[in-house]
Amino acid sequence: MRILIAEDEPRIAAFVEKGLSANGFAVTVVGDGHSAYDYALTGGFDLMVLDIGLPGVDGFTVLRKLRADRCTIPVIVLTARDSVQDTVASLEGGADDYMPKPFRFEELLARVRLRLASDRSAELTVLTCGGLQLDLRTRRAQVGGRTVDLSAREFALAETFLRHPGQVLSREQLLSHVWGYDFDPGSNVVDVYVRYLRRKLGADRIATVRGMGYRLDELP
Ligand code: CA
Repeated sequence: MRILIAEDEPRIAAFVEKGLSANGFAVTVVGDGHSAYDYALTGGFDLMVLDIGLPGVDGFTVLRKLRADRCTIPVIVLTARDSVQDTVASLEGGADDYMPKPFRFEELLARVRLRLASDRSAELTVLTCGGLQLDLRTRRAQVGGRTVDLSAREFALAETFLRHPGQVLSREQLLSHVWGYDFDPGSNVVDVYVRYLRRKLGADRIATVRGMGYRLDELP
């Protein structure tokens, strides 16, 4: 899946690019409205993340021009939190979703996946492993048919495990997948959340591999 990011603030662009790349997306970044329009029109992208405040041509105009040209690329708009209402009003249905800044990476990732999944079969949005089931669309988790409440972070961690069943994942991998760029590599947050998940999903499901990390095991 190829994603176009139109964002002129280098820190945000890098943050989004890094996170999406780590999640298996091919990412192209542009920093102004003209490029955003030109790249989106090529048809080479499955989705665009579009900042409203862009130099050259602003995001509103880019989106309006694209829709006028019958370009149907799904668009998630990035907007300042205090102008959400203006933004939604100005979009007039041209955008598929919007994301108020500042945002956490997994909030954006969830919206990206939701947009991309809406075209695909429900099958691909449900991850399963030995009685454990995650529905990426409804954000619901089930263990043996019983619904379990997971926080957004717990869900993201469980999702990472379910995408790599039986594979040892290091703390660093889990940190970058679930917590994004803003983490302290010395933090024990992964261990803490693995503990939460074990409590909710079953203690034997996530094995500790000493000196290496954690592994999701399929229970008989
Ligand atoms: Ca901007």
